[in-house]
Amino acid sequence: MNYILLGPPGAGKGTQAKKIVEYFAIVHLSTGDMFREAKKSNEALSKFLSSGQLVPDEIVINMIKERLEKDDIKKGFLFDGFPRTIKQTEELEIILKSKNLKIDAVFLINIYFEEVIKRITGRRVCECGTSYNIGMIPSKEDGKCDRCGRKLIQRNDDKEDVAKERFTVYGKQTKPLIGYYKKIGLLVNIEGAKDEKDVFEQIKRHIKAKNDK
Ligand code: AMP
Repeated sequence: MNYILLGPPGAGKGTQAKKIVEYFAIVHLSTGDMFREAKKSNEALSKFLSSGQLVPDEIVINMIKERLEKDDIKKGFLFDGFPRTIKQTEELEIILKSKNLKIDAVFLINIYFEEVIKRITGRRVCECGTSYNIGMIPSKEDGKCDRCGRKLIQRNDDKEDVAKERFTVYGKQTKPLIGYYKKIGLLVNIEGAKDEKDVFEQIKRHIKAKNDK
């Protein structure tokens, strides 16, 4: 069971990824999370992330290559935020082939620009990993984490101008992947402008149907 989650920033990939990996007991491979962790000790990375630009393909591919060396991926894995360019897609195919692995499905979470901007700019996160949204999933007490009480923050790349830039970058560099995966029969369209339970049900239904065959 190896999957890819595709969709614009703010489509809810991170939220869905957490649900999928927990339910199906597979490994979550989020390049965004890996870079957010790595940027603490790498200023160059920080610049890409805070401007909404993509990290160069070579860096991303090397990081993924290294990650796929670990044994845990044998349980199955879910890519969240990767691949994001055609180059990354092609390189991924080469890496997987060399390991005798394949992708079973690519879930495309479809959502409109206005909804995405509303979701991204409303997102607030806590250091403990909990995410909220001022409009949709607010914390009980304004600006405070329900789980640990710490102060909630807005990620730099969730500010409106960066969010718009991330959406533009998605349109130019990542959208072409839709055609690529459609052509090889892996694309599964998911209606993303629903509540998170509904979106998860759509994905779950597809995975179960495939695995019950
Ligand atoms: P995300 O949390 O997936 O939206 O990623 C946050 C940021 O990390 C992006 O805006 C990029 O700067 C960087 N990033 C994450 N994944 C990739 C990728 N596959 N290719 C290039 N840059 C990436």
